[in-house]
Amino acid sequence: VKTLMLTVLVIMLSDVAGVAQESVLVLQGGTLIDGTGGAPIEDAVVVVRGGRISAVGRRAQIQLPAEATVIQTDGQTILPGLVDMHLHLQPWKIPLYLAHGVTTAGDLHANTAWVIAQRAALEAGVMQGPHLFVSGARVLGPATGNLSGSFGSGFVRNVEEARLYVRYLHAIGVDHVKVDSSITDEQLKAIIDEAWKFGLPVLGHLNDIDYAMSIGMKEMEHLPPFLRSQLVREGKPVPEGRTQLYRDVDPAEFSPLIQQMVEQDVVVDVALYGWVPPEIWRSARSEIERLANDPGLAFIPDEEKAPWTEDPGEPRAGSETVAEFLTQYVEAGGKITVSSDGYRTSRIIPGFAQHLIMQGITVMGVPAMAAIQASTLWPAEALGIEEDYGSVEVGKVADFVIIEGNPLTNIATTRNIRTVIQDGNVMDTTYDPNWVNPIRYPASFR
Ligand SMILES: [Zn+2]
Repeated sequence: VKTLMLTVLVIMLSDVAGVAQESVLVLQGGTLIDGTGGAPIEDAVVVVRGGRISAVGRRAQIQLPAEATVIQTDGQTILPGLVDMHLHLQPWKIPLYLAHGVTTAGDLHANTAWVIAQRAALEAGVMQGPHLFVSGARVLGPATGNLSGSFGSGFVRNVEEARLYVRYLHAIGVDHVKVDSSITDEQLKAIIDEAWKFGLPVLGHLNDIDYAMSIGMKEMEHLPPFLRSQLVREGKPVPEGRTQLYRDVDPAEFSPLIQQMVEQDVVVDVALYGWVPPEIWRSARSEIERLANDPGLAFIPDEEKAPWTEDPGEPRAGSETVAEFLTQYVEAGGKITVSSDGYRTSRIIPGFAQHLIMQGITVMGVPAMAAIQASTLWPAEALGIEEDYGSVEVGKVADFVIIEGNPLTNIATTRNIRTVIQDGNVMDTTYDPNWVNPIRYPASFR
């Protein structure tokens, strides 16, 4: 009886506390770049109630709540939490995202059951990390050469199987669908039709963007689907090899196809890490080496860290074409994304890659403001989660990264992270060398 009474008393007390004081957080001072592309707000105030943004504006315009936790952000820049919409999760990657200001992430192909369990563990607070949105295993089609090492991808032989696989993904609870270019045109059409019935965005690799747009596609992974359509429009043969695609197109002829893509609101995700100019990578070498040798990151297998410090060598063939596309697309009003990708062991450092790519595309000619949007609101739109994430606007989830410096004059300052806030909570992003992902990764996954 005693225990029971105590329980009742505790519930009553916490109930009263909940009514009396909803947690209120205020960010006060500094510059706000809100992710919408609007002019920066100087001497800004952001008010957060119950994990959501309740007011945004200049200090003079905002009535400050009486009882609030105030974080002084004078001399700093407040950005929305960063969104990496294209990654492939591995158990050790999780702590690196928040530490680099990535508060939201989209997985575009992993083992379905495992990645859904990761999302659940993050939602439940079993581990700390980004808000995670998942595709489960991608859809592979008849043109697939090799099914090994594909996390149990949904291999579909015909249109009916394609529809069934989308229904299965929806039933198991994915957030979006990832397609591979090995599916047929008819299968892609059926997948879009089926996925949209459930409100699931379709993202992925395509054969050509002209066909994909004709059936409503709103997202394009990598540049080859654009390049193939562009070559057809230019009356040139479409070569087999990828490198040749970048060489054969004429950037002076890009405009009509780009215009059409912008009109259809196609978000372009080029998985840009490999295109970052090598001199940018070299300028960050000391930071990269510090990460590779950080004792706090002892939980990351050595073989995963080994490639991080490898010099990228010469600029990748086709870099000028990529730079031309990105600058023209953004100038025409198109939306691009900054994302890490990184499949299995690679040179890509989760979280850190986001910043290096922002800097890289700025050097390639993309304005700094667009690089910020490509890391916040635009990827949120591609994932269909822009009502909650991607910008600092009233009603949205209170995710912020607060940095030292002005990213509009020097985009590299996004790496000077001072505070990371998720759901209105200041996050402790200190690395724990003994960190273990609570949901192991079976050895059979490759
Ligand atoms: Zn990928």
